[in-house]
Amino acid sequence: MSIEKLTHVGSYLEIQLEPIIEQKTIMICPNHKTHEYKDSMFYCSLCGTKLEPKIIQGQTYFDWMELLNEKDQEKYEGYLWQVTENKAKQTVYLIGNLRNQFGPDNLSVKSGEGAIEITVDIINECLTNFSRQYEKLINKLLTSKTKGLKIKFGFITFWN
Ligand SMILES: [Zn+2]
Repeated sequence: MSIEKLTHVGSYLEIQLEPIIEQKTIMICPNHKTHEYKDSMFYCSLCGTKLEPKIIQGQTYFDWMELLNEKDQEKYEGYLWQVTENKAKQTVYLIGNLRNQFGPDNLSVKSGEGAIEITVDIINECLTNFSRQYEKLINKLLTSKTKGLKIKFGFITFWN
């Protein structure tokens, strides 16, 4: 399995989440407090000192599906693809994962096609198609734990 960089140009969902603060235990060396160690390590790889546990507060992010109840999780599994996040903004970004029955909600550009002008009409069409395709799901997400949800058009790069 390889990792590739993908580019999405089109509609996407921006969901702002309540921060989830979790406590976790990390191992630290009293002599090298900023060095990071794997969970399986017991001694400092720099000085050989025995590592000590330290409890830290960490912010975690979850899968968008966790915003739905169990019944809706089954219903909407695979509808959206959570492609990236912005931890500072407590935001996750999702793109459509279904063949849109109302028309395209993004631009698929093959190499060698030359230039493609993105007009206001194309943007509006993509946004409309996206909103219609995912309307019910978006309404479900709006009534749950999000702090905010926006449908946007733009350019996202992500690793798959
Ligand atoms: Zn050390």
